[in-house]
Amino acid sequence: MFGELWRKFCSLLKKEAVHENEPQRILLLLRIILLILCLYFLSIPLVLSAVGPKTGVWIGYIFAVMAVAAFCATYRLKVHTSVLICAGVQLAWVIAFVILYGWDCGIQHLMFEMLVLVYFAIYNSLGYKIGYTILLFAVRFGLFLYCRTDISVLALTETATVVLQIINTVITFVLMAVACSMFSSNVESAEKKLVLYNAQLKKQAGTDPLTGLWNRRQMMQYITEKHQKEPNMAFTLGMGDIDFFKRINDHWGHDCGDAVLVWITRHMSQELSEHARLCRWGGEEFIFFFPEMNGDEVCLILNNLRMRLDNEPFDWKGEWIPITMTFGVEENDFHSNIDTLLKNVDDKLYMGKEQGRDRVIY
Ligand code: GH3
Ligand code: MG
Ligand code: MG
Repeated sequence: MFGELWRKFCSLLKKEAVHENEPQRILLLLRIILLILCLYFLSIPLVLSAVGPKTGVWIGYIFAVMAVAAFCATYRLKVHTSVLICAGVQLAWVIAFVILYGWDCGIQHLMFEMLVLVYFAIYNSLGYKIGYTILLFAVRFGLFLYCRTDISVLALTETATVVLQIINTVITFVLMAVACSMFSSNVESAEKKLVLYNAQLKKQAGTDPLTGLWNRRQMMQYITEKHQKEPNMAFTLGMGDIDFFKRINDHWGHDCGDAVLVWITRHMSQELSEHARLCRWGGEEFIFFFPEMNGDEVCLILNNLRMRLDNEPFDWKGEWIPITMTFGVEENDFHSNIDTLLKNVDDKLYMGKEQGRDRVIY
């Protein structure tokens, strides 16, 4: 029963305005603020009848009605207008309160919350916001001067002043906290989305879409950074190229060629990924970066992969296609740069092709 009422209340607060593409969270914030304000306005007559002058209590009821009207208006008006109405009600309250009860009850501090509300909720030009700040400043200063020159209309008792000061301080803090928490969570969620989106973009930019392996750009960046950070690190480069791949494309079609690339990536990942970083260098060529390993160790691992491919033909719709690869291996010699090492490993691969393919050359 209570849960049902609460759900209805929440959906009423979150209900969209008639206009499309309006910032929903600001609308929710305005409704929460107006509801809190309404309760606050209603509390003023109660407090005054208990501890203050009994005259002028009607003002609380009038503002409570205004808050309810502004609340209802949020369902019809544009968010921009609703924000201004919400700030307007608060400004009118501050002016009326100070004129009626003087400066000592601290209601003028509500203006800071109004400043935060308008600055973060309305995407207007800076000039507009500066104008609004000057207006608030002028009103506040005008009220201060008024209180210096004129005694307040309804003199408050000491108790009433203290009680109203407490209530006004509480309402200012509560509204400020509500507004700030809403806007800070807005910023936080936008920032989180941006970080996630950036990470996705970075991943996409460095990944080959067909095989999911790193692309050449990502591998070059990785090797260059690694080499710069640890210039004395031992490592070995491997390069692999599918033999007669063009024939596969020509005979079985491009789709079959693509499937071979994916299939071979699976085998390479299973055989190499615990030792090396893999990348699709381009076409049907792959580069492997083996950190902390020498050429002999890499030759052994690549020969295992080569034999695995020899023993397991590729199944294309029931037809068994033999696939072989040729590899070049080049160990870091600690004086050549990365480009030279890459050229050397490419030369070795080429030697392997010349010698009849399906082999590892070190
Ligand atoms: P070799 O044994 O000398 O390496 O011969 P090869 O036929 O493998 O080499 P070649 O460089 O002549 O042919 C490579 C072919 O790879 C040509 C190109 O159409 C094909 N290729 C490159 N990228 C892709 C791809 O993403 N998908 C498919 N299906 N084919 C590709
Ligand atoms: Mg090839
Ligand atoms: Mg090639």
